[in-house]
Amino acid sequence: MTDFAATRALFHLPDGVVYLDGNSLGPMPLAAAGQVRQMIESEWGEMLITGWNKAGWMDLPKRLGDRIGRLIGAEPGTVVMGDTLSIKVYQALAAALEMRPDRRVILSDSGNFPSDLYMAEGLVRTLGRGYALRVVDPEEISEAIDEDVAVLMLTEVDYRTGRRHDMAALTAKAHAVGALTVWDLAHSAGALPVDVASAGADFAVGCTYKYLNSGPGGPAFIYVAPRHAEVARPALSGWLGHEAPFAFDLDYRPGQGIERMRVGTPPVIQLAALEAAMDVWDIADIHDVRARSIELTESFIAGVEAQCPDLTLASPRDPAARGSQVSFRHPEGYAIMQALIVRGVIGDFRAPDILRFGFTPLYIGPDDVDRAVATLADLMDGNLWNRAEYKARAAVT
Ligand SMILES: *Cc1c(COP(=O)(O)O)cnc(C)c1O
Repeated sequence: MTDFAATRALFHLPDGVVYLDGNSLGPMPLAAAGQVRQMIESEWGEMLITGWNKAGWMDLPKRLGDRIGRLIGAEPGTVVMGDTLSIKVYQALAAALEMRPDRRVILSDSGNFPSDLYMAEGLVRTLGRGYALRVVDPEEISEAIDEDVAVLMLTEVDYRTGRRHDMAALTAKAHAVGALTVWDLAHSAGALPVDVASAGADFAVGCTYKYLNSGPGGPAFIYVAPRHAEVARPALSGWLGHEAPFAFDLDYRPGQGIERMRVGTPPVIQLAALEAAMDVWDIADIHDVRARSIELTESFIAGVEAQCPDLTLASPRDPAARGSQVSFRHPEGYAIMQALIVRGVIGDFRAPDILRFGFTPLYIGPDDVDRAVATLADLMDGNLWNRAEYKARAAVT
């Protein structure tokens, strides 16, 4: 059983703060500062360019990919780090489309994160030739999977409501009509057990700065099922995905397996922070994290519903049907969230009316839930959020 007091001690959390926004940016693992400092001073500083070989910088994207792979049920050697999630969505989607040359439709849902849809739109525009993005409501996705679909591109856990798709069932349905799948695990990796291999996912992508705590701007990851590894062709065919980058050939030849999904120079300093963040998983079991997350979210929902009648639950009531976040609706959600943040309980707001609370058992416990509920109830009771200063929107919400 995971010792959650021990995992909490691995993070820096500012005094007096209940941090319910690890679904957007995870807090700093205490070891990250030391790991980054050591990378900068002893490796970059002392080794200079020899660090690529001596300190193994070039292998970091694959080594850390394997550590993330263990959390998402990926086979060894099938995950690599790099770039940002939007770029990895593009990389996966373009490769999947090329594997279904006789089909033209990308199917997704309106609960997907806008950047995923924007990347698909951009790819469709570049490809021309009748390619189209079809977007339906999340509840209608299963029925919309038909023989026109080349690729089903979904985010497992909805960033606004926390609603969770059934990855195995939807993947099976896509495969039954001959379509491929691209799963975005942005709100899944590190939040709940994922098993891309047994679900049969073809491609998966995700970011590391949310539930994996790699820090702002941390690199993304991409998974390609082993059966596709030598077939998938990267559209973003950069030199580090080449079979022999240092041969400096004029023609592109894809590298072996997952290596081909690399694009350019890896973000070595940020990978050092990720390495420290992944050490947390040496003492944390994702199944324990999930069980505890369900306890915390159930208790939060019960408390808010009992004490804040004006807030409406926006997340599925069945814990199995949601990820590790809980959302409530209120027309003045933005001001309420600002008032809450001023009082030390940090969640976030998503337009038009969603108050979002992420529960990350690695550093959030039952006492934090109680304090969050009490603070929220207090400011709802007294209308304390109803002030002009809480209504002025900042650039990042
Ligand atoms: C957070 C998130 C992103 C962000 O993409 P970046 O390129 O890392 O900024 C994309 N997709 C989903 C589903 C997300 O939740």
